[in-house]
Amino acid sequence: MTPRILFLDHVGVLGGAELSLLDVARHFADVSRVALFEDGPFRHRLEEAGVGVDVLAAPESVKKVSREGGKGGDLKSLPGVAALAWRVARRARGYDVLYANSQKSFVVGSVAARLARKPMIWHLRDLLTDDHFSASHRRLAVTLGNRLATRVIANSEATAHAFVESGGRADRVRVVYNGIDPAPFEAVTPEETAAARREIGLGDAPAVGVFSRLSPWKGQHVLLDALTRMPGLHAVLVGGALFGDEERYAASLHEKVVAYGLSDRVHFLGFRRDVPRLLHAVDVVAHTSVAPEPFGRVVVEGMLAGRPVVATRAGGVLEIVEDGVTGRLVPPGDAAALAETLGALLAAPARTAALARAGREAARRRFSRDAMLEGVARQICGVAGFQAVT
Ligand code: UDP
Repeated sequence: MTPRILFLDHVGVLGGAELSLLDVARHFADVSRVALFEDGPFRHRLEEAGVGVDVLAAPESVKKVSREGGKGGDLKSLPGVAALAWRVARRARGYDVLYANSQKSFVVGSVAARLARKPMIWHLRDLLTDDHFSASHRRLAVTLGNRLATRVIANSEATAHAFVESGGRADRVRVVYNGIDPAPFEAVTPEETAAARREIGLGDAPAVGVFSRLSPWKGQHVLLDALTRMPGLHAVLVGGALFGDEERYAASLHEKVVAYGLSDRVHFLGFRRDVPRLLHAVDVVAHTSVAPEPFGRVVVEGMLAGRPVVATRAGGVLEIVEDGVTGRLVPPGDAAALAETLGALLAAPARTAALARAGREAARRRFSRDAMLEGVARQICGVAGFQAVT
């Protein structure tokens, strides 16, 4: 028997955390539901996958709490957190385990789990470092994690390490790497690839792609800087502005493209569902985050698509890419190093193809979806006192 699971997530858009939960919730669809604190495309994707969803809309005061926020906003949100926690606790009655997929949903969920006397899993997909969170939010997350999470699943060793460094209890944490189904990345045909290149308007030009939401810390501006050093190279930016003030960053990227005279070489595609096909359309996949990445699904996806990947040397990416063997690493925020590495990859096709092949093999071996589902199931069954079955 499998425990009944109530998954929680606070966002309605599709970030990496939500795409990972999509795979997990689909696997447990018969015995679970997802409660979202906001409506949006994520609900549609879950429902398409046969997963039951309830939207328990968060009060405005809770929505307004941001990662960088301080105590003032947090205090104002307390009544809203309590009200939402009561609603979640009522839902929780029919379930064996609560499972929070995001930090905000963990704060609400941990209170709800206590009220409902249910075990609580926190799937930690964020790096609790000062690059990403204010000191007070780190303290709050770690205090709740230590007291109210039965188990913390970290999506990388880097994420686990940052939790423990912030004061989190090491005995609560288990690392389960994100896993990704290779099939869609391997199913793209040469005809589909050619069609995608035509649609984007790449012609025969070499192209580099970044597949991330447009956010200052995702570092698309570094690629634009690198492009000024690489005449003839096109850039394909796949991803939209999803959270907070990312719209402003997106606008600044467009302005930069005009100011640098790159309009005919930079292609903004917005948020897309056909990422596998678009990965095949570019010659190199770049990951440009200027702050450490908790995991970096796009890095694994680029490797699964058999594309050479150049990524920034920080955070979870160090657990994915072995520099010079399965991909290339460059220092975060270093446009000159990025340009040089892109140039080297494009100039040596045979060596680059071998690197990409090794990357694909490593990604298939180390980040399989089955291994992720097995790891998550083990933790769910463990906290619920059930025998693990997958
Ligand atoms: N992604 C997508 N459409 C886009 C851009 C990105 O579906 O237009 C997906 C991408 O394929 C990856 C995820 O969004 O699976 C991003 O995950 P990652 O871990 O790289 O970053 P996060 O969003 O979690 O910071």
